[in-house]
Amino acid sequence: MLTNDQLDQWDRENFFHPSTHLAQHARGESPNRIVKTASGVYIEDRDGNKLLDAFAGLYCVNVGYGRQEIAEAIADQARELAYYHAYVGHGTEASITLAKMVLDRAPANMSKVYFGLGGSDANETNIKLVWYYNNILGRPEKKKIISRWRGYHGSGLMTGSLTGLATFHNKFDLPLSQVIHTEAPYYLRRPRKDMSEAEFVRHCVAELEALIAREGADTIAAFIGEPILGTGGIVPPPAGYWAAIQAVLHKHDILLIADEVVTGFGRLGTMMGSDHYGMRPDIITIAKGLTSAYAPLSGSIIGEKMWSVLEQGTDENGPIGHGWTYSAHPIGAAAGIANLKLIDSLGLVENAGSVGAYLNAQMQAAVGDHLNVGEVRGEGMLCAVELVKDRNATEFFDASEKVAPRIVGEMAKAGVIARAMPQGDIIGFAPPLCLTKAEADIVVEKTASALKSVL
Ligand code: PLP
Repeated sequence: MLTNDQLDQWDRENFFHPSTHLAQHARGESPNRIVKTASGVYIEDRDGNKLLDAFAGLYCVNVGYGRQEIAEAIADQARELAYYHAYVGHGTEASITLAKMVLDRAPANMSKVYFGLGGSDANETNIKLVWYYNNILGRPEKKKIISRWRGYHGSGLMTGSLTGLATFHNKFDLPLSQVIHTEAPYYLRRPRKDMSEAEFVRHCVAELEALIAREGADTIAAFIGEPILGTGGIVPPPAGYWAAIQAVLHKHDILLIADEVVTGFGRLGTMMGSDHYGMRPDIITIAKGLTSAYAPLSGSIIGEKMWSVLEQGTDENGPIGHGWTYSAHPIGAAAGIANLKLIDSLGLVENAGSVGAYLNAQMQAAVGDHLNVGEVRGEGMLCAVELVKDRNATEFFDASEKVAPRIVGEMAKAGVIARAMPQGDIIGFAPPLCLTKAEADIVVEKTASALKSVL
């Protein structure tokens, strides 16, 4: 086993970490938690410290850590058949079974599942399929994709472009020209303080209509959105937002892609986030909660309307020119099957609804009146505390003050992991769906005391 000094040295010398300040990490200035083991909602680091992970890794370990049922399903699959590909109609029992289980949990008008590896590649697949669809329908000009500022859809070339956060564009020559952004449904940051929620929804709709008019509906293929903005700040949409947006998309024959990488499989207290908000997407992106991150696997659930055109396309052009070596990897599929069974048998969708509501209510009660809390918001097992300089004026802190990272740092010292969201002073919570009320109390208590010690 490596000593701590060896670990630090090998890490600095060899390992390129994602989403990391590379220079600070090399100088040993950034917090580097090296995790050894985990069970339930707790992780344990190399020094034996136990921390309650109130962000479930990167909102993905939905069933909690250390589930032996999933570990055994993975081991059994690896022993029996570690790999076979899914090209030209091949498959494995695991991938075929999981496709059926996913469709059984998806909205009624969904037709097929394409399996990838992570949320970014699933969204890349989605955009290619939307383009293919419009080419087959004989409208090659209808290609642009509308995304929202503060949306997060991955960090590939297309998906990094769809992501509406500057950090993912800067110095990478993104966004690509096919991507256009519209207003985020972020009521706290509405353009005028005297706007009601209903007025703000009308404003978002007017912004979308204006964008479509400027670009031309016949150049726009799809709109992509997370049911609730995740990485952009954990922001539930105002009431009526999705119904109003869908009416506009329908009018202009623009497809809807629901990016359910975070919300899929229970996080909002419903099986899918689309169910929660009455969305009727043409494609649904799934990843994290599909396997609870026990193995990498993602999916694109394709609706009936698109599927028939894709079939027609292959009759006209031959096999679809899209696929990864690891599409529908049997080990990922075995993990997915065991994971979805656990979600059902443990009642985790219901638990996310009830304990998530408790977490949000307790957080509101504990910190909602603090002078520097602009808003406590959330839905199901998602919660955010947004910090402001002065809640009456709703003036925001300067990024250089690093208020949220300082609070999150204090919380970690007290044994609870929360996430300082990448843009704005927002403390995010997305615990495993198996969180208990007693564990929610710990999260709330440590948040309140860290907030008090920093502000
Ligand atoms: N879409 C959403 C909504 C996400 O939250 C994420 C990741 O956090 C992604 C896509 C990208 O997924 P991945 O990091 O697995 O590529």
